[in-house]
Amino acid sequence: MHKLLLNRASIALKLKPRGGFLIKDGDKGRTMVRPDLPDLQALRTRVDGEETVFIPGSSLKGVFRSAFERQLRSFGGEHHGLLACDPLNPRGNLCHDNAPRDEREDSPTTHARLCLACRSFGSQQIGGRVRFADALPLSADDRRRANLTEQRSGVSIDRKSGGPSRGKLFEMEVVTGGAFDTAIQVENFQLWQLGMLATLLADLKAGELRLGSATTRGLGAFGVVVPEVVLWQARGSSPMGVKSLGAPTEYEWLPDGELPAEVIAGARHRRRRGGHEWRFEGDAVALLLDAVESAGWAHLEAAQQDGWTALATRRRRLR
Ligand SMILES: [Zn+2]
Repeated sequence: MHKLLLNRASIALKLKPRGGFLIKDGDKGRTMVRPDLPDLQALRTRVDGEETVFIPGSSLKGVFRSAFERQLRSFGGEHHGLLACDPLNPRGNLCHDNAPRDEREDSPTTHARLCLACRSFGSQQIGGRVRFADALPLSADDRRRANLTEQRSGVSIDRKSGGPSRGKLFEMEVVTGGAFDTAIQVENFQLWQLGMLATLLADLKAGELRLGSATTRGLGAFGVVVPEVVLWQARGSSPMGVKSLGAPTEYEWLPDGELPAEVIAGARHRRRRGGHEWRFEGDAVALLLDAVESAGWAHLEAAQQDGWTALATRRRRLR
């Protein structure tokens, strides 16, 4: 990732639990000293001095990353390993190879040997360009509703038989109400990266992507509202991907582009921080997300023939 900030997208999100969710607190000691509490408790933090349930940014990032990888692998066919590496198989994996290939290796070269998932979410050598803030109930009313949690009984699953294991009932704390505000921020993005995030937000809204524990038992679905998207970029008179803004040549194996003028017309534009800012609200948000989704996937499809082969060759040379 180069050191210049050329563009940035901030996607505000409001998540409302549909049917309940549980992000587990890993502290087992707490149930031992307080036997009145359920076995599986919700993770908590403090907002305005009050303790509250929440969804950590790291949980959001984990779920988005694995869904992002899954999408890329199914799209990549025989090149799927180039599009999304397997972090659990570090052998010959250029993304997770820590040995310096060359002391003078610059960041575009490092970037060139990463798969598309590591380019977006980071690897051991390079920071990610997608960040997730903690999702918090910000208003006092949402906080009150979120913390009126329910206790539900669950049955442990026997790992061998796959059926319920005898006598192992447990109580879990489920969050069913309130609303959780968060934001996704992407720096130096290509349009396909924003497009992929728009697809995953649609999957989250459809209940296909779920957060937290017991998702196969119906937990973890959310209503998703995107109140606002803000795009900023250092130069250029309309929003575009980082390659179109003149990023180093190592980005150039995937196409990028500008967004359609009728989509930009729905945003409020102003000069800000030495560059341009476009603020999308209301109906303009849905139009924007649709436009980045179709542009992004079109760019991935256009690259399918040449791009994957070019990436394979370049990575082979580095190996
Ligand atoms: Zn990778």
